[in-house]
Amino acid sequence: RLPTRGDLLATLNEGQRRAVVHGIGTGLPPGPLLVIAGAGSGKTNTLAHRVSNLIVHGADPRRMLLLTFSRRAAAEMTRRVERIAAQAMGADGEALSAGLTWAGTFHAVGARLLRDYAALIGLDPGFTIHDREDSADLMNLARQELGLASRESRFPTKGTCLAIYSRVVNAQAELAEVLRAAFPWCAAWQEALRGLFAAYVEAKQANNVLDYDDLLLWWAQMTAEPAIAAEIGGRFDHVFVDEYQDTNRLQAAILLALKPDGSGLTVVGDDAQSIYSFRAATVRNILDFPGHFSPPAAIVTLERNYRSTEPILAAANAVIALAAERFTKTLWSDRPSAQKPRLVTVPDETGQAAYVAGRVLENREAGTALRQQAVLFRASSHSGPLEVELVRRNIPFVKYGGLKFLDAAHVKDVLAVLRWAQNPRDRVAGFRVLQILPGIGPTGAARILDAVAEDPAADLAATEPPARAAADWPAFAAMAGHLRSRASPWPAEIEQVRLWYEPHLERIHEDPVTRRADLLQLEQIAGSYATRERFLTELTLDPPDATSDESGPPDRDEDYLILSTIHSAKGQEWRSVFVLNAIDGCIPSDLGVGEVAAIEEERRLLYVAMTRARDDLDLVMPQRFFVHQQAARGDRHVYASRTRFIPAAILDRFEQAAWPAARPSPHAGSATAARAPVDIGARMRGMWK
Ligand code: ATP
Ligand code: MG
Repeated sequence: RLPTRGDLLATLNEGQRRAVVHGIGTGLPPGPLLVIAGAGSGKTNTLAHRVSNLIVHGADPRRMLLLTFSRRAAAEMTRRVERIAAQAMGADGEALSAGLTWAGTFHAVGARLLRDYAALIGLDPGFTIHDREDSADLMNLARQELGLASRESRFPTKGTCLAIYSRVVNAQAELAEVLRAAFPWCAAWQEALRGLFAAYVEAKQANNVLDYDDLLLWWAQMTAEPAIAAEIGGRFDHVFVDEYQDTNRLQAAILLALKPDGSGLTVVGDDAQSIYSFRAATVRNILDFPGHFSPPAAIVTLERNYRSTEPILAAANAVIALAAERFTKTLWSDRPSAQKPRLVTVPDETGQAAYVAGRVLENREAGTALRQQAVLFRASSHSGPLEVELVRRNIPFVKYGGLKFLDAAHVKDVLAVLRWAQNPRDRVAGFRVLQILPGIGPTGAARILDAVAEDPAADLAATEPPARAAADWPAFAAMAGHLRSRASPWPAEIEQVRLWYEPHLERIHEDPVTRRADLLQLEQIAGSYATRERFLTELTLDPPDATSDESGPPDRDEDYLILSTIHSAKGQEWRSVFVLNAIDGCIPSDLGVGEVAAIEEERRLLYVAMTRARDDLDLVMPQRFFVHQQAARGDRHVYASRTRFIPAAILDRFEQAAWPAARPSPHAGSATAARAPVDIGARMRGMWK
């Protein structure tokens, strides 16, 4: 029997159903819709059903724009839409939903639109995209040119300059205001910074590169032109945004310019999960959304959590209930369980790693596959000891949030060669590439780049290299010329780069064998991208995840444990979740300590982490924690105390345990355990303030 359209709604609750049918079947474009609801209440699921329902009712998926927080989330959503549409309409539904190709992050979609409309806004469509490190390098070039980089001047570092610049752009704020609020120690440099940023913007344009922020800024500027905005807006009948609480002002401006009257616009999110204010995201976007339109947007709230067991939800609710800001949503769960979330004390980070690895294996024995388990942490570096332990015990894992080898020098070298071929004006790439050659240093590279800037089409073979590089120059010029003229198809050309690079690899690095393996892996990854341009764009915007496996990114059917920062775990769920370092100094992080707003964001972060768990949740607390300091201060251990977000008043929501269990320790006696620990760590931090 072919399922009927009604089946699409069958599994949904009343509120979800209202969101899924909103404005459909009226013959008019649906008005704006906001779904604001707590974790695990089915917002993403509801959005997928709404998209499917529109398709079932004849809307064209090619005219839909789906904005998600990661490329993974976009892929997941399109898969879900396909499945739901297929259930409702059979093969037709599946075929139709394949047209849903405008799905991705704001940044990725921005890059695509900017290439499409480049001609209308005086942008060269061959632009390349700078990642944060490249951006910092370009900022540094500008600093040096303006004479701001000398050690004595104590001018902010390139990284700080970039952070300030980025904040100004994303928050659409005044420089003075950003300095006052977030970088008070740089306030004295305000005018110099202004000059630096002007030079940085000029350099980007001269190099035909865009940084991450530009993808939003140029897009927003482009949509500020009513004619272009109307054209782009007219391209999409429906625009959907998931995780709207973590968008910034630029993103909201883009959205409103695309759909000024809100027609066809659906946004979903949860104000209690806003965790990106450090990137200028503002929860005001979601709170103010309804009022932007007249009549105001329809609002749907959802209260039933389908994800977590009752005890897990109760503990998470208790944590967020203590927030300074009142979130009105109440969530309930209909999944009883006898198992409360565990608060597990371990001696130190090594013990933490051993405990988690052991539990993960026990879970697998009991039938929970590795991929249904995740280990979450506040900062990427926190998983180090665990990664070592997992490798030792042969437990395969994937770490979300950036392929480590993409940051490795040799991989960056190869990518820079491709990027420079793509865009000869990209000075940061050119600088890197030229200095691979022996005998070419910064001065020689700068001279060659100046020559190239005069005439980007010039043949490198005819360019005179510094005398000491003469021997290596012809091979290099031939390879570069080959890439520029697109003499061989993608992805074969990346192999040519490697063949050219290998002798240099052996000369520059001591471990050429493992590095060569990385390059082969890069070639494999390249094979899954249709063009060089897409490879470079998407790899820069959303690098694939790192794995413990030498053989490359995991296959769908292979089993891997998930390691992720809490930030990257947003929107996802696992049967079993471990949160590392549930201690003060980690959650909240040291960085967040001090400002109330920052502390509150850390609380929401813990809430996000806890609400990822379906059946099983462990918060692990090492008693001793190793703190990596800047060189001058030296590394040291601190005695850690339980995160302040789980005060004694809500301890009854957790099962407390110690691992290893049997060993009686002088610290574990009941008299000392009942007393609040002395925060020696804070005292030691205080010594440096
Ligand atoms: P988050 O705030 O973490 O992003 P969310 O609100 O987007 O969460 P979903 O991820 O959509 O929630 O859903 C959470 C879980 O609940 C998923 O496993 C989903 O399949 C399930 N779920 C959602 N709605 C229903 C429903 N009506 N019946 C059964 N299960 C549901
Ligand atoms: Mg979601």
